Amino acid sequence: MSEIKKEISTTEPKALVPNGGYKMHTFEEFRDLYYTYIKNPKDREMVAKAYRFAKSQHEGVFRKSGEPYIQHPLEVAYILAELQGGPETLASGFLHDVVEDTETTVEDIKREFTPDVAMIVDALTKIQRMKLSHRTEQDFEAEDHKKIFLGMARDVRVILVKLADRLHNLRTLDALKPERQHALSQETLDVFTPIAHRLGIYKMQSEMEDLSLKYLEPEKYAEILNLLNAREENRQESLRALQKRIADLLFENKIQFRIESRVKSIYSIYRKMYQKNHSFDELYDILAVRIITDTVLNCYTILGTIHATYKPIPGRFKDYIATPKPNLYQSLHTSIISGDGNVYEVQIRTEEMDEVAESGVAAHWRYKDGGNYNAQAEQKDIEEKLHWFRDFVSMSNATSDTNAKEYIEALEHDVFNANVYVFTPLGKVIDLPAGATVLDFAYRIHTKVAESAVGAIVNGAHCSLSTTLKTGDVCEIRTVKNASGPNPSWLDIAQTSGAKAHIRRFLQKKNEYLKEEIIEKGKENALEAFASQGIGSGEMEKYLNDPVLMEHFGAKSLENLYELIANRNPAPFALIDYLGIRKKKSQSFTKNLVSNVKNDADTPIIVEGADNLHITMGKCCTPVPGDEIVGYVVNGKGIVVHRENCPNLLKSKPRLIPVSWNKNLGKTAKFPVMVRISANDRSNLLVDLMGVLSSKGILVTDLKIHLAPKTMHDIVNLTIYVPDKETIATVFQAIQEVKGVYSCERVMK
Ligand code: MN
Repeated sequence: MSEIKKEISTTEPKALVPNGGYKMHTFEEFRDLYYTYIKNPKDREMVAKAYRFAKSQHEGVFRKSGEPYIQHPLEVAYILAELQGGPETLASGFLHDVVEDTETTVEDIKREFTPDVAMIVDALTKIQRMKLSHRTEQDFEAEDHKKIFLGMARDVRVILVKLADRLHNLRTLDALKPERQHALSQETLDVFTPIAHRLGIYKMQSEMEDLSLKYLEPEKYAEILNLLNAREENRQESLRALQKRIADLLFENKIQFRIESRVKSIYSIYRKMYQKNHSFDELYDILAVRIITDTVLNCYTILGTIHATYKPIPGRFKDYIATPKPNLYQSLHTSIISGDGNVYEVQIRTEEMDEVAESGVAAHWRYKDGGNYNAQAEQKDIEEKLHWFRDFVSMSNATSDTNAKEYIEALEHDVFNANVYVFTPLGKVIDLPAGATVLDFAYRIHTKVAESAVGAIVNGAHCSLSTTLKTGDVCEIRTVKNASGPNPSWLDIAQTSGAKAHIRRFLQKKNEYLKEEIIEKGKENALEAFASQGIGSGEMEKYLNDPVLMEHFGAKSLENLYELIANRNPAPFALIDYLGIRKKKSQSFTKNLVSNVKNDADTPIIVEGADNLHITMGKCCTPVPGDEIVGYVVNGKGIVVHRENCPNLLKSKPRLIPVSWNKNLGKTAKFPVMVRISANDRSNLLVDLMGVLSSKGILVTDLKIHLAPKTMHDIVNLTIYVPDKETIATVFQAIQEVKGVYSCERVMK
């Protein structure tokens, strides 16, 4: 680093550049730039060819801002060249819109350029295509964002080109309608600046944030700009004084250095003012002095020299050299009170660290000319060093089945908002969101580790899985071989979406084993009920394997139906009832009964002095043995037996003859009885009633339920089959005990 100059420079704060003051570049300017670091003639030619190709494809098309379309890909490529992107990245920058906007196909690009360029353009086209159908509903938006992330997770170069594309679009946003300006700006803050931040590309991140803010909150943007400008002169003056004093100090100590100052970005001031509620005057780190030197050792020497001269503010010193941020940012940070009473943030770093601080991933994996560059190896290297990127890629790959909103939330929470850094015993940094627990940490180490975890040793002390971790903790997970593994309470302990997803998956699998047992139980219950109706397993399955029945009971499959039956929802007899099996059986039973009455010597009714009469039971009052009865003579047809108090007999006295029950009648003959039950309207009432009747072996037919409009009671009408009056009493008693039943009575009509 011999060319390090001892110089003082104050970079023009970006905020002070007038709006829209962007310079348009010519291809020649672009060429001068990329020739500085791409020397291989073949590579140079591929980039130039991509320019010519894109230019001819977009020929005759103009942007909304008025210039020929090619200006856009050219600026995109220029932004990428400023980041020293490799030849394929630059070519993709030129070609990123040709598949979407012209006749060119991905195959054409593969043939004319390289498979990697084709892959990058293909991914970009897919991202772009999705944006064409712009939607407003939140779910769709999440779905869109998910697809953008998925597209970008394929290759870091896709991200770089997409970011450059978006940055140039933001720079020329004035040409679009306000709704589009708003939508693009919001999407930039939702999707693209978090990615730029995580990749450490501060240059792009802060410019995109400031531009987005300008369109989303024009008044607040202007307010902050004014505040900055109003104090600009004072600030510059005291800054120059400080810079001079520091410079003198370092000259004395014969340390190589360069010193700069930088104004905080408008967006970061906005966040502190409006999201963290600080006043502008409270923001003492609006100005940072940056000292760039040649070695890491000198960074610490400079820090010591400054602390020996100026009072550091406690708690503001941060050593990001020893512990880089997850986006690889390295620097020493301290805040000091200068002689004039002002507070300044001082950043101290090497030249390389400074490049990484500005360009992040792009600087770290800067295109190295002539070397045997390997995109796959680079991607792998990036995933290894940017561990969040590995999480991002694996989360994105494992996500096809999770819903978009969950994925975006997981990404935002676990990856983008991770700001707690915890160490493994070997010194590896795991970044976690605030509030993350030992269990989250365990899942980040490995799923298998987490599933056999029983606790941890944090900073030498035993801790439970639910212990919240903080930055600087050293955490070692304790595992045992036969650990009981995840249980539902882990879902409360875990704070990261990633860990929760793993736990849910585990529990789901476990439930699948349990599920088999439940299905078996449900099937047994059903078999029992059907067997009581004389139906075997084969026939039962035929009955149940009916889509209409399944839908009726909300079952997705026969197995699912058994599961529901095991939970008695529906109870097995509800199925039998639904299928009308009882009805069928009892109808044939009634027929048998009637024929019995007609022909059997074992007749239930005895009529003095008259044999071989056709005797039937009154349908209006349904008499059973034990009831007081009379016979009604139907001319030429026989006798209909009624209960004595049947209202239909009132005017029929002359036709009545005495009849009596056959005392020798067994309990096998069953007589229908009409019943009305009145009950509280509630779910599962019928299920419970049927349960009681079924447990007493009572057949039921003609079940009807309706809601009495005045009382809002359920009125259940049904016919039961009993051998005698005593049975009715016991059945009614049981029915009365069913929850919600008010009354239960025999009816006559
Ligand atoms: Mn574009």
